[in-house]
Amino acid sequence: MKMKAVVVHDSMDIHYEDVEVKQPSPGEVLIKVKAAGLCGTDVDILSAELFYFKTGMAKLPLIPGHEWSGEIIELGEGVKEFAVGDHVTGECTVACGFCKMCVSGKQNLCTNRTETGVMNRSGGYAEYITFPVSSLHKFSKISFEEGAAVEPACVAMEAVKRARVSPEDNALIIGSGPIGLLAAQICKNVFAAKRTLLSGTRDDRLDRAKGYTDGIINVKKENLKNRVMALTDGEGVSAVIEAAGVASSFTDIEGVIMGNGRISCCGFFGGKTAPCNWDFIITNDIEIIGSLGSPGVWDFTIQCMERGKINAKNIITHDLTIKSKDDFMNAFRIMEERRDGACKVIIHP
Ligand SMILES: [Zn+2]
Ligand SMILES: [Zn+2]
Repeated sequence: MKMKAVVVHDSMDIHYEDVEVKQPSPGEVLIKVKAAGLCGTDVDILSAELFYFKTGMAKLPLIPGHEWSGEIIELGEGVKEFAVGDHVTGECTVACGFCKMCVSGKQNLCTNRTETGVMNRSGGYAEYITFPVSSLHKFSKISFEEGAAVEPACVAMEAVKRARVSPEDNALIIGSGPIGLLAAQICKNVFAAKRTLLSGTRDDRLDRAKGYTDGIINVKKENLKNRVMALTDGEGVSAVIEAAGVASSFTDIEGVIMGNGRISCCGFFGGKTAPCNWDFIITNDIEIIGSLGSPGVWDFTIQCMERGKINAKNIITHDLTIKSKDDFMNAFRIMEERRDGACKVIIHP
């Protein structure tokens, strides 16, 4: 059986072509893709600029799409926990399950891993995807469009969890992209932060967060430190989620973070080096935490979405059907250029 898929052959050499559908092996299922999200990582994949390509860890050609959802249409041998008709989404990281990292719950660092639509595994920009049930998750009370946003919600969940946000914390999220907006919802609605603040540079995105933050800060127009202090009665913040990957971040954070604070970083800096005042970090017992991917948070994140604690509809701005290369490139440009206030662009491949 053949399917249509978006295939990246080389830098901006993108085809919409017929590809053989992979029949499910034992432990895999075949899924009709219903929705897929476009993400900043896809910009690096389409331009072949991705870090993994440079190190040789990932290769082209590749079907991208690490944010996707669909319906199971066929079960591979031995699959018992899923049924035909189930609505599902899959993890970006598909880990081996037996290496040292996997055994310690760090599947995101599995040395034998593939990453869906990123590293040596076909993604969701296709009519069908064949996927192992070991990394697959069911949902029933959210739409396929929201199902395609489970992956970024899980990335945000992991970053907030690693910052250990609790009702005692004033939390600041830096970056008002999809991950930052989802992280703000999670700080406020899942971990009940005392105060949740969001900073960014685009009013159209910051405005989306008005319903679930205690203050939004446009750092192009306002002084971050002054605003944070005003919004926290002079306390500052104890947990920071860095979701922007901005070189000035640590300098900015120094002005607003309390002693014993945590900084959880999930926004890639794209090779930039961010200066950091280490004497300040040491003398204030500050923790800087890297947060990659979303190991072990998928079922909990889906529950939070199904119970309305995380509302992915808040970030979805576009919903486009893909029938040609031009359709795909148009959707991609909308996301890349943030046309018409684009935040999360969903496609139906
Ligand atoms: Zn993504
Ligand atoms: Zn492993």
